[in-house]
Amino acid sequence: MRFDIVTLFPGYFASPLGESLVGRAVERGILDVHLVDLRDFSDDPHRKVDDEPYGGGPGMVLTAPPVFAAVEALRSEVGAPPHVVFLSPQGRRFDTRCARELAARPRVALVCGRYEGIDERTRAAGLFDEEISLGDFVLSGGEAAALAILEAVSRYLPGVVQDAVSVSADSFEDGLLDHPHYSRPRSFRGLDVPEVLFCGHHEEIRRWRREEQLRATLERRPDLLGAAPLDDEERALLERLARERRSP
Ligand code: SAH
Repeated sequence: MRFDIVTLFPGYFASPLGESLVGRAVERGILDVHLVDLRDFSDDPHRKVDDEPYGGGPGMVLTAPPVFAAVEALRSEVGAPPHVVFLSPQGRRFDTRCARELAARPRVALVCGRYEGIDERTRAAGLFDEEISLGDFVLSGGEAAALAILEAVSRYLPGVVQDAVSVSADSFEDGLLDHPHYSRPRSFRGLDVPEVLFCGHHEEIRRWRREEQLRATLERRPDLLGAAPLDDEERALLERLARERRSP
C-alpha cells in the first residue's frame, strides 16, 4: 500500500519509518511511504507557505496555492489516484473501522496542516476526499496524527503483523476490549497469574478470556457494549458480571 504524506516537516518521519513494525513493512515493500515537502510547491523565493489571516487575529494560516499544487501533483501521477485525507480536528473521528477502510485502498495521501489552520478554500473547492481527526484535542500539526494513522492502518496489511490472530483479538475488533495478558514470572510482588492459564485446556482458557473481555469492557468502556455482537450466553454472562459489580 502506498502513503503520500504532505508535510512541512518531512524530517519528522525519519525515525518512526525506520523502526519496529512500520520500519519492517517499509523494508519489505508492503508499505511504500512517500514524503512530500509542501515547501517544494511554494512559488515564493523563500519557500514560504504561510501568511497572515485576513481579518486579523493571532497566528498564521497555511495558504491555499501550495496545498492545491501538492495535491494536484499527486493526483496527476500515473497509476492509482490517491484517496486524499486532510488531517484536522474537525474531521470524522479515526477508529478501527476507519483504519480498515483506509487499509483497503491502494493509495492514501495524508495532508498535514500547521499554524492556525488551512485556507478554507481548500475545503470549499473539494480538494480533499475526506477529513479525519485523531480525537477531540488540538495538535500543533497533522504529523503526529499521520503517524498514528499510518501505524494503525498498516496493522491490517497482510504480512505486517506476523500473527494475524493477534490483530483480530485486539481491543475493538469484536466490539469489546482485549482480555488481560500475562507472562513470566508466574508470581511477582505477591501477584499471581490466574491459575486457569496453566490448565492446558484451550476451551476453558478461551472462555475465561472471553469473560475477561466482557468484564474489562463493562468496567472501562460500557459505552461499547450496546453495539457489541454478543450471543445469548454472553449476554447472560454480562448480566451476571453487571450484577456482581452492583453487589460484590
Ligand atoms: N485552528 C484549528 C486547528 C489548527 S491546528 C481548529 O481549531 O480547527 C494545526 C493543524 O494540526 C491542523 O490543520 C491539523 O492538520 C492538525 N491537527 C490538529 N489537531 C488535530 C487532530 N485532532 N486530528 C488531526 N489533525 C489535527
